[in-house]
Amino acid sequence: MEPIIKLENVSLWYEKGKPIEVQALKNITIDITRGDYVAFFGPSGCGKTTMLYAISGIDRFQEGKIFINERDISILSNQELAIFRQTGIGIVFQQFNLVPSLTVLKNVALPMLFVGISSEKADIEARKLLARLDLTEYADRYPFELSGGQQQRVGIARALANDPPIIIADEPLGNLDSVNAKKVLEFLKELNEKDGRTIIMVTHEAWSLRDVKTIYHMKDGTITEVEKVTSQILAESIYGHLSKQISSLKEEQPKEDANKDTSSGGEISAHLLANFLLRGYSQDEISRFESFVNQRFSDKIDKKEFSKLVNKPFKDGGVGLWKKKTTRVTDYLEEVINKRHNVSKICDLIEKSSEVSIFDEIHDIRKWLIEGYTGELSSAQITALDQVISDRIRNYISREKFVELLDLSNNKFGVGLSFRAAQTLSEKLELILEGILVDKNDTDKDNVNKNDINESNLKRL
Ligand code: ADP
Ligand code: MG
Repeated sequence: MEPIIKLENVSLWYEKGKPIEVQALKNITIDITRGDYVAFFGPSGCGKTTMLYAISGIDRFQEGKIFINERDISILSNQELAIFRQTGIGIVFQQFNLVPSLTVLKNVALPMLFVGISSEKADIEARKLLARLDLTEYADRYPFELSGGQQQRVGIARALANDPPIIIADEPLGNLDSVNAKKVLEFLKELNEKDGRTIIMVTHEAWSLRDVKTIYHMKDGTITEVEKVTSQILAESIYGHLSKQISSLKEEQPKEDANKDTSSGGEISAHLLANFLLRGYSQDEISRFESFVNQRFSDKIDKKEFSKLVNKPFKDGGVGLWKKKTTRVTDYLEEVINKRHNVSKICDLIEKSSEVSIFDEIHDIRKWLIEGYTGELSSAQITALDQVISDRIRNYISREKFVELLDLSNNKFGVGLSFRAAQTLSEKLELILEGILVDKNDTDKDNVNKNDINESNLKRL
């Protein structure tokens, strides 16, 4: 797939040719994939804001090319650029940049008026956006009557005004307290995951990177490191590989030694993990890292020893990762170890019968779950429900998130059940998830044929 944003050898100078000339971007080449959630991360003055301004056409760069949706923005006139900014990209500024003399509603409607939408229609759309950001009651207030967190949410609503596929946010949490910052982060994640928008965020605070999928580390106008943190893809790959691994193991040998089973699964995951986490590193570094991951998987070393080893210089037998990267990678690995445990159980569930696909399984579970539910469900709600159940069974989402998504209205991509119904369904589902957990352990312990146990599980559903 063509990247949604492509930078080729981009350089940007401020005050070029003057004694105070600053080169803020130095020969930057990157591809940003559609649907990615990207952060430019680095210390103050390293060129993060400039990067956003170059991409959104606010600042003109002198060298290189930038393609948005395969369109070369360096050849656009100022007027064309303005139109592109109003429809192609939504920008959330650190200082909010709301128009003080306009009400909240009119601030959000304004970008729509710029592209020729009638005032009545713009107001209707603006109200929808305000509702999405929980701001309905503030529609007729002025920005100065709102808290910082509320103003930032108005800023986000405004950025969404012309339904842009790309959202750019410059330090969107910079002026917010932690509660509001968390809300904004949740919403950016939703815009990415539920709406499928491409999000580009700038930050100098590590904690705000929590949901990001790609991190561009910046220093002095250059990109020093690209870090991929696609946990979803990672989970899927590990899941896929483990599933294959388990079926091949089953063919080769009767399941006698549960420990052996685990460590073989580990090697595959370690290989995947090493390549994901150390993308861009040399093969030697990756191999060494992989061997440490394997040791950690089989519990030969603990978290602390692992962290020490990857941080140690390469020449001394380590991998030589920076401190920050070490912490990140170590924490990530611990999370994966937990996930791996759960995922292998799902594989067992899927493995139980080659004729039953996971979709039938989900349908069965769904039917069982809504037995006794008195309300009517539309087909859109049922589709959403199946998705949420599947995500929960694959452990992509937590129990809490499951309830939240069941409760969330269907037009916000939730299922739209009452909170009470959501709770009931969740309790029911957790019961069978727990049942499988117990059954699997029993299988290992008593060395009972796994298929028998799982088929009885199915009947219980
Ligand atoms: P960041 O957002 O990472 O803090 P910026 O992109 O704002 O960094 O700035 C990068 C560099 O460009 C800094 O050295 C800054 O002083 C300089 N700079 C930014 N904007 C201007 C401007 N309008 N005129 C001159 N220099 C600028
Ligand atoms: Mg900045």
